[in-house]
Amino acid sequence: MRKAGRIVAEVHELMRRLIRPGVSTAELDAAAEELIRHRNAIPAFKGYPHTGHNDFPATICASINEELVHGIPRPDRVLHEGDIISIDVGAIYQGYYGDGAWTYPVGEISEEAQRLLDATEGALFAGIEAARAGRRLGDVSAVVQRHVEERGFSVVREYTGHGVGREMHEPPQILNYVNRRDPDSRIVLRPGMTLALEPMVNAGTWRTKVLSDGWTVVTADGRLSAHFEHTFAVTDGEPEILTRL
Ligand code: MG
Repeated sequence: MRKAGRIVAEVHELMRRLIRPGVSTAELDAAAEELIRHRNAIPAFKGYPHTGHNDFPATICASINEELVHGIPRPDRVLHEGDIISIDVGAIYQGYYGDGAWTYPVGEISEEAQRLLDATEGALFAGIEAARAGRRLGDVSAVVQRHVEERGFSVVREYTGHGVGREMHEPPQILNYVNRRDPDSRIVLRPGMTLALEPMVNAGTWRTKVLSDGWTVVTADGRLSAHFEHTFAVTDGEPEILTRL
């Protein structure tokens, strides 16, 4: 998983370098796939969930502005100055998964967009910091929600983080908000658990909808959304983030 995570981190370094006005999301996707295959890994999202009907067609999810997750890369989808773009990418190395997302500014962005990015990134790291052996998963969710709401933004309810390892999505689910009826929230963290925490944060309402392509999720009110995710391991001490260099 360290190796798979490192490949995901390398893709993000590449995305950070390539993202600029004028580049298309299909170009970003091609570059990501090439890097992953060059590392003898497999793009985890391509063909997911392998039902043979409207499976995800690409290596990265590329979601711009009001799109929060699962945007499909396209040659005619070109970045503009002031956009924000969320890139989510997964890699499989020798049967093990890494999964990580980051929202990038395209050139100069608005003050509100920057605050949204800072709040979402901050929520991710605050949540990981709270993921200590002996604490409950619900404690992590509470930290994420508080961090976001104190900054005036809202946490998406319909999509969650997850366990990750030999599959991309394993139990438990990790909510980004407190829900006392969620049984997974009572799970006690133990060293060796590998999790993907992924706050999705909206500037306006937390409500979302799915576009007619069956994949792209957008905010219900059309305002901006950001998404940051790391795969990490619970340890005896500090959590170990696997999807960074
Ligand atoms: Mg994930």
